[in-house]
Amino acid sequence: MRITIWNEYVHEKQNPAVARHYPEGIHTVLAEALRKHLGPSVSVRTATLEHPEHGLPQSVLDETDVLVWWGHQAHDHVSDEVVERVAKRVLDGMGLVPLHSAHLSRPFVRLMGTSCMLRWREADEKERIWVVNPSHPITEGIDGEFFEIEREEMYGEFFDIPPPEELIFISWFQGGEVFRSGCTFRRGKGKIFYFRPGHETYPTYHHPMVQRI
Ligand code: ZN
Repeated sequence: MRITIWNEYVHEKQNPAVARHYPEGIHTVLAEALRKHLGPSVSVRTATLEHPEHGLPQSVLDETDVLVWWGHQAHDHVSDEVVERVAKRVLDGMGLVPLHSAHLSRPFVRLMGTSCMLRWREADEKERIWVVNPSHPITEGIDGEFFEIEREEMYGEFFDIPPPEELIFISWFQGGEVFRSGCTFRRGKGKIFYFRPGHETYPTYHHPMVQRI
């Protein structure tokens, strides 16, 4: 499997509170995690916004089976050409894994066709992620009915997405909200998995269960 991890890579260079957890960028931590968990059966490369064509020329997408996407403050800096190219490649069979604030990334919104807006609050709340589809391969290796992240940003419903094909995780937050945290979709020949955790000021992508998923 050939995996490309795309990260806008902006917060890490501007905010010391983010750089503390991700000194070389969220993409680097994700790449290391995937190499560690999946071994030599996968090839992992990374790409960021600042590269020519954001590091996603057609040749890279043609050699990508799964594209992981993290973005937040620079969604609007992703060019129309790259958005269309990614969306078309998904329809042709590439997997797409939008993480956390990539709910508003342009390729995801384009493929969903809805606003993809949600409720949110940054208040250092505990997140409990319930496994609601334990036979699904995405949940392989998760022990127990749920796992917890000690502090995260809250995302709450209503999350304006089309009804997911499969719901894999539901999050509960200390403030009482719940959220559809792990959702699958199909578009054309491509499969999409949205996964919620990963606010940039928390060390979420170092969490073993999050890495596993
Ligand atoms: Zn966030």
